[in-house]
Amino acid sequence: MVELHCHTTASDGVLTPTELVERASGLGITHLAITDHDTTAAWEEACLAANRAGIEMVPGVEVSCYAQSREIHVLGYFFDPDHRPLQCLMSEMRQARELRMREMLQRLSEINVVVEFEEVARWSRGSIGRPHLARALVERGLVKSFDDAFERYIGRGKPGYVARRTLSPGQATEALKAAGGVAVLAHPGLIKDMALVSDLLELGFDGLEARHPSHSSKEMKRFTRLARSRHLLATGGSDFHQPGSSTRPELGAMKIGSETVEALRQRSRQIA
Ligand code: AMP
Ligand code: FE
Ligand code: FE
Ligand code: ZN
Repeated sequence: MVELHCHTTASDGVLTPTELVERASGLGITHLAITDHDTTAAWEEACLAANRAGIEMVPGVEVSCYAQSREIHVLGYFFDPDHRPLQCLMSEMRQARELRMREMLQRLSEINVVVEFEEVARWSRGSIGRPHLARALVERGLVKSFDDAFERYIGRGKPGYVARRTLSPGQATEALKAAGGVAVLAHPGLIKDMALVSDLLELGFDGLEARHPSHSSKEMKRFTRLARSRHLLATGGSDFHQPGSSTRPELGAMKIGSETVEALRQRSRQIA
């Protein structure tokens, strides 16, 4: 079994890299890419656990981008995790996330919703974001639930919302390729604009994440066809963030074959 899209405590997942790898191992996963938002901080710890469990780790990341005022996520695979320019870029993005979080807390305090930065930061070990703030708000009893936090305070357009620095999808694909990797356009169904998806695919992507839990089976078929017609790989993953989620499935649930991993590897070699 293969998993190409999941998150740990290095971004907004709730399992540590070791816990995630052990869970994957228990489920029979053989090839695993951890795709935290804008960070590869999970890599070393995950590799140690994967060695013990006999799992092959694939370098992975999910880069946060923006195009035509829409959130676009770019998945990267098989890049060199130590590539300096890529690490610098992601480190800048994480610093910008931290400043943005402080600004969000300032805005919230102005409407008497008071949370300290440290209460948010304790949920994250790498890339700080709104999901950590949502958990802190729940813990403080200031909202009823994780979703309620977005609904009332931190969703786009709500009083605590501040946009964060993002790259363009073109910059992200370029940086991933310069690091010897491949770029895959994540969950195109969430972009909700087929014309934009089609334009984005001109930017040098190697694949399209056709199978994602947010896609209907019709969309999965449509995106698989689209990938094929553009000579791109059709990939997929569960986007696992936490065990027992009512909205997201288990690790490995998207049933991706190891031939997809090999095809991604081949493509990264052609680029390098
Ligand atoms: P950030 O990168 O800090 O802006 O946070 C974005 C993340 O927050 C997304 O990847 C989702 O996991 C989560 N998110 C965004 N909007 C919502 C929402 N309306 N309800 C629940 N989670 C959300
Ligand atoms: Fe996430
Ligand atoms: Fe995403
Ligand atoms: Zn994701």
